[in-house]
Amino acid sequence: MNLYAPSYYKRFKCIADRCKNSCCIDWEIDVDEKTYEKYLSVGGYLKENIAESDGCRYFELKNGRCPHLLENGLCRIIIDYGEDYIADICRDHPRFYNCISERREVGLGLVCEEAARIIIGDDELFSLEKIGECDDEPIDCDFDALPERDNIISLILESDKTLPVKIKMLENKYSINVNIHSMNEWLGILTELEILDKKWEEILNSATVSERKHDCCELYPNLERILVYFVYRHVSASSSYLNLRAKLGFSILSVKILVYLIERAQECNVENLIGLARIYSSEIEYSEENTDALIYEFESELAE
Ligand code: SF4
Repeated sequence: MNLYAPSYYKRFKCIADRCKNSCCIDWEIDVDEKTYEKYLSVGGYLKENIAESDGCRYFELKNGRCPHLLENGLCRIIIDYGEDYIADICRDHPRFYNCISERREVGLGLVCEEAARIIIGDDELFSLEKIGECDDEPIDCDFDALPERDNIISLILESDKTLPVKIKMLENKYSINVNIHSMNEWLGILTELEILDKKWEEILNSATVSERKHDCCELYPNLERILVYFVYRHVSASSSYLNLRAKLGFSILSVKILVYLIERAQECNVENLIGLARIYSSEIEYSEENTDALIYEFESELAE
């Protein structure tokens, strides 16, 4: 199968010790079977600090940090043994994959601050390119979301309309109603979901009681890139036309939430938008339960 990625994909490189929100902190890091075997054969510290639960092995965090993360922010496994010795998940993060009938697509997740900088700050127009091939077998899909996904992305990339106009066009074309809840009700729903970082709760609580301080139209090009990201990541893997519309609703809602938050933030600039998008992704996208709960809000409305 052919493997496709956004054109910015190849520019990503983990910034390691310069990362302020390292994925080696507060995240459970799985150790896959092949890596585990390797660690057993090498021995030493590599076979320590590995716990097992429900048949899955993972590094036991120490004070919330991966036991191999050094104080200087570097990984001691990479330093001592090289990149071939890190677990699959460490090598893969922040990439995500979608298998769609005869092709596989890969992208970078907004959860990683460096990936978020590339996705949101990229000047290049979004496009996909073939980056290689993979051994996966084609999957039989009842529904092919790609033609509609590509139409949606083309509409977002049109240069002669503003972001609010494009969003309105998408809402009308796909009969999506983000106003099933007011923005404060949506924020209330977010606070009831599983929360990983107290900072997220503070952002939501503060936005609920804050007045709008800024107009974010200067950030429309960056917000458009975020909308394309959500569509590329979520709409591509839709299982039916209704599911596609619900996932598009989730994508639009995600951007509207970010607009609402940045307009109430102390400063309305790209760096702050990147920070908000990163934490939103971490809290919502990287919890399947939370993402599903929001998509379900649209699915149940559309099914009526
Ligand atoms: S979050 Fe991204 S940049 Fe930071 S350590 Fe992880 S992969 Fe590297």
